[in-house]
Amino acid sequence: MGNSLEASVGNIDRFQIRKILGEGGQGIVYLAHDPKLGREVAIKTLTVGTSDEMQNLLHEARAVSALHHPCIVPVFEAGDFHGTPYLVFEYVTGETLAALIRRGALPAEQALNIAAQVLDGLAHAHEHGVLHRDIKPANIMLADNGVPRIMDFGAASRNPISWLDEGHVGIDDTLVGTPSYMAPEYIEKKLYSARTDIFAAGLVFCEMLTGKRVFRATGSLDELFRAIVCDPVKLPPGPGLNEKVVAWLLRALAKDPEKRYQTVLEMKQALLHAGDPGPQKSAGAEGRGTLEFLLRRIKLKKEFPAMSASISNVNNIVFSDRGSVTTLTNAVLKDFALTSKIIKLANSSYYNHSGRGNISTISGAIYRLGFDTIRNIVLGLLLFDHMKDRNQAQDLMGECVQAILGGAIAKDICVSQGYGNPEETFVCAMMHNLGRMLSIYYFPEETAEIRKILALGEAGEEPISRQILGASYTELGQWVAKSWGFPQKIIGSMDKAPPVAREHPGPDDTTRLIACMASELSAAVVQNDPELQKKRSVQVIEKYKDRLKLKSNAVEGMFGRSLGQFKEYTVAVGWNLDRGIAAKLSMLQAHHGETQACEITQRDQTQELQTQNIENTLRVECHITPAAPPAPARGQVRVRTEVLSGGIQDITNAMVEGSSLNDILRIIIETIYTGIGFEHVIFALRDPKRSAMVGRFGLGEAIDALVERFEFPLEFVPDVFHVALQKNIDIFITDTADPKIVNHIPGWHRNAFAAGAFLLFPIIVKDKPFGMIYADAANSFTIQEDEIRLLRTLRNQAVLAVRQSG
Ligand code: ADP
Ligand code: MG
Repeated sequence: MGNSLEASVGNIDRFQIRKILGEGGQGIVYLAHDPKLGREVAIKTLTVGTSDEMQNLLHEARAVSALHHPCIVPVFEAGDFHGTPYLVFEYVTGETLAALIRRGALPAEQALNIAAQVLDGLAHAHEHGVLHRDIKPANIMLADNGVPRIMDFGAASRNPISWLDEGHVGIDDTLVGTPSYMAPEYIEKKLYSARTDIFAAGLVFCEMLTGKRVFRATGSLDELFRAIVCDPVKLPPGPGLNEKVVAWLLRALAKDPEKRYQTVLEMKQALLHAGDPGPQKSAGAEGRGTLEFLLRRIKLKKEFPAMSASISNVNNIVFSDRGSVTTLTNAVLKDFALTSKIIKLANSSYYNHSGRGNISTISGAIYRLGFDTIRNIVLGLLLFDHMKDRNQAQDLMGECVQAILGGAIAKDICVSQGYGNPEETFVCAMMHNLGRMLSIYYFPEETAEIRKILALGEAGEEPISRQILGASYTELGQWVAKSWGFPQKIIGSMDKAPPVAREHPGPDDTTRLIACMASELSAAVVQNDPELQKKRSVQVIEKYKDRLKLKSNAVEGMFGRSLGQFKEYTVAVGWNLDRGIAAKLSMLQAHHGETQACEITQRDQTQELQTQNIENTLRVECHITPAAPPAPARGQVRVRTEVLSGGIQDITNAMVEGSSLNDILRIIIETIYTGIGFEHVIFALRDPKRSAMVGRFGLGEAIDALVERFEFPLEFVPDVFHVALQKNIDIFITDTADPKIVNHIPGWHRNAFAAGAFLLFPIIVKDKPFGMIYADAANSFTIQEDEIRLLRTLRNQAVLAVRQSG
């Protein structure tokens, strides 16, 4: 039965097979392309399937489909291809822990960090009644972004009744799993429970820390089993094994399951203690720790590594000199959810004030709204999307609301007062309370203590947080922002204290002042009831109005506009605002609904009049529905022709507005890339000096290296590239393995690109080759007639743009 797949290697249903990723116990795992959704997937099939094994595969699908956790590889669908069942998983780029460990022990900090996340994933599975039952390094991938992903639930038992009701223990007829990682009670009595997973996890973590297996199958299986059941556990030596870590591991590896951690969460808690650097943290009267210590604790908790990796990545791109539109586009396009949120946000009236038609590409959004704006959108999304709706959700949501509202207010002040760079000021205000947000998220107990002391009213938040955490909120926030690669100007503006007044304040001073004022105003609105909102806002404005030389109209309508913008923002990013917060914001409207508008005419108002005015400005159109429409689900993808037409519209707009050739070419390349779902798209340009066609930029996996290798001399040789250029014809190779065509594909291309299909669009201007667009796919490929027509339109737009630019 399994042969039907081999006979037709190439496709499994709509999925185009690219290569084998791994061969495990059950069958083969392939890398495949899903042309429908334009993404890579991993497909697991059964080579030879007994009906039991087929049952197992379905078992796996059901077990995994109940789980949603960043550390568990999700299953997308299950299918049956000519009698062979298969499962489609998210494709994870990275390495298995087994491959990683083969090269030696991991640095202790990294190993513990991974362990913490694996335990989070495992705890999630257990909470949903799923025991993994085959935890081992080969079944955990370390994704490129540093997040471990548990996979292969092939042995999983989803039998909540038996293992919950009968003392959490199940009994097997035959042994399931991998011998070297089996727990003693399982070998002896075939008993399994959460604690058998804990035992295996202990072995995996030990292996990461030491580079060696604890129990090795050197002789017979019986010998191995005897060692696991009888021999005292002897941990191999390793640099990361200090006393605390050893104790932590040994408890997981206790022979008697009753003496182990009883739950994964218990083991995770114990890790947080074992991972602490120990006594040096009590640094005398100064406080309980140092920034180093805090960051270490943060790193051990879930989510942080993934979030900081993406944020650093974006910062590296956007704040470096090399930061280019294409690198940012490429980075963003890898994340489907992020892409669609950005496009949605770019089209919202919050950003797209001009209303000049829709934006449907990332490069189009960058062109229209500017690089800085898109950077801010991306950073905001990365930051807040990770933090919201987790533990302490309500608290954090309040902080997120306050941060974005603060950003909106800051931007509004900039615009209405004609100050500096509104987008930059937006980020500065948005980041203002990063430290407190991190503290709520990562140190909930300490945060509660800080609040308790704060409520006594004897000291401010900064000294109290320093006393409790060992570093003030601001210090914590600035330190983390620095580690994420934010520029100094933004980090500096996170200071809570307004800058000292100078005779000639610099632009940084102004940005920082506005950031301070905006975040105080935002806090006044979010934290208080309407009466207090009013009072506090007046105080804040009083405090800043002279230094900022606020014009009389500065605050007029400010809250209204900012709240309106904020609403746009939350809808666009699909946030579900917590009811409490939504209600609080809506109250602003209800409470001030009857008040009439009233203008400030002079700068020296009485306090009374100002109060009135603010009251009005608080009267806002702010109906934040508790459940904003969710962002499009992963599967919801626009049809190819729609994407292509959308892009063409973007380009037309850009051309009408006389934008630069580069901008237009970028939008064209992105439209082709996302529209068809190509693997790579490259734009090449004739280099007259070298008399060669040379790759300039592109999109796709590992594109930089490929762009570099895209180069061929212009001197004619009879290959498809030259034919396309000489005859000015589009060439579309649907199958590079086709014997009729093989000899016409040049060696440089074959060596650099593993393409199964590609297309070439020459760009000829004044009868001379100007450049070309190259697009490829890993497998043979078909494109519909109407798609080809749209692709040609895109090429023609490129020609037109070149001509226009002279
Ligand atoms: P088996 O049940 O056959 O052991 P696994 O799920 O463990 O199957 O997969 C076998 C190998 O295939 C893994 O070790 C890994 O190298 C690769 N693999 C499996 N799933 C994925 C995935 N989603 N993304 C990338 N590689 C994967
Ligand atoms: Mg496996």
